[in-house]
Formats: sequence, structure tokens, C-alpha cells
Amino acid sequence: MKGGLVFKVLKIGPVKIKLHRPMDGKVKTLTIRRQNGKWYACFSVEIDAVPLPPTGESCGIDVGLEKFATTSDGEMFDNPRQLRQAEKKLKQHQRRVSRRKKGSNRRKKAVRELARCHEKVANQRRDLHHKVARSLVNRYDLIAIEDLQVKNMTQNHHLAKSIADAGWGNFRLILTSKAESAGRKVVEVDPKQTSQLCSRCGAEVKKKLSQRWHHCPVCGLSIDRDVNAAINILKRAV
Ligand SMILES: [Zn+2]
Repeated sequence: MKGGLVFKVLKIGPVKIKLHRPMDGKVKTLTIRRQNGKWYACFSVEIDAVPLPPTGESCGIDVGLEKFATTSDGEMFDNPRQLRQAEKKLKQHQRRVSRRKKGSNRRKKAVRELARCHEKVANQRRDLHHKVARSLVNRYDLIAIEDLQVKNMTQNHHLAKSIADAGWGNFRLILTSKAESAGRKVVEVDPKQTSQLCSRCGAEVKKKLSQRWHHCPVCGLSIDRDVNAAINILKRAV
């Protein structure tokens, strides 16, 4: 059930809503709030944990810069075009705000538009996180991810920004909670050097962030850089 729906709300009457994700379980509460001139109906539901049947499959996940995520099986989850466009717009709005005179009405208007854009990006990102997490939890018994502590993130400013942007922490929360109710396991591993070591022979193959391909001079393994990293992540979990 996706799309327009009508809910009967006590004391208010019928309310038409746009459902962003299918809703499972029993509705416990409904909160209606207003943000940036838009109305949101927020449902909290109670779901009985329903363990999914085991699949016998495991995977490692590498969260990247260009792609949102890559699995050890070679599957890639892209940032959707809509999200990339919204992010581009976000930058334009930010520039517009900084160009306009402080205290002016034009600046206030630009700030409101920026807030709306921020919200749009956040919503789209959350949607992506739910979709990717659902897809993984349905297919894998064990999902290995990097344990990205703040400590590690601050070592590389460019990477830090990207990880923060991709909302890694939010994704991890969503993945973990879906996995938990499905009886799946999420294992966090030490992320050190997962992109620099060969996933077949263990040799160190140094590469810059811009080098997208892993080619091992020792064993000859030649695969996508992120897939190599994802395999290393899985190996550390099992
Ligand atoms: Zn190798």
C-alpha cells in the first residue's frame, strides 16, 4: 500500500496522507506536526519480531563516496538521481543565503527555502536507507559493516564529510533494527585498511581515493575497489 491514503483521525476527521513507505504492524500513536510549512503525519507501530527463514548467505558492505553502498557480491546501490539533484540544489540555496544581506527579508526567504531543501534531502536519504537495509536483511543471514568511529572519520577530512553526508550512522541504526526483528546478524568490524589489502592474497596494494580499481600485482586479482573492500569486511566478520 503506497501512495494516497485517507485516515480517519479522531476529532479531526478524514485526513489524506501520502505514504512514503509500506506500514507493518499495529498503529500505536499518530503524531501530526508541521515543519517548514508542510504537515507530517507520523505513525508509530508495534511489530512482532518475525524471524525470516535462514538463507545461508552472508555479505560485507562497503559504504562509499560515489556509490552509496557496495556488497561483497558485487552489487552496487547508487545514490538516486533525485537525491543527487536535491543535494546540488541544497548547495545553491546555501550560497544564496550567504550572498544576501543579514536581516533582510530576502535573506529570511532564502533561509526558509534552504530549510525546506534540507528536509527534502533528509527524507530522500532516509528512504534510501530503508530500501537498502530491507533488501539486505531479506537476503542475508549475516551482514558485515565497518565500525566507523568518529575517531577514524576525523583522520581524513574529505572522507569524513562524505561519511557524514551519507548519514552512515542513520543507515547503521535502520539496518540494525531491521536485522534484529528479522533474526539477522549485523557484525561491525575494524575498518582499518579494508580498501588497501588484497581480498584474495592479503598483499598490501596501496591506492589513492581516486583509484577505482583494485589490481593485485601479487596474485593478479582485478576487481572494483569497493567490492574488494566489501570482501575484506566480510572476511573480518567470519
Ligand atoms: Zn592479491
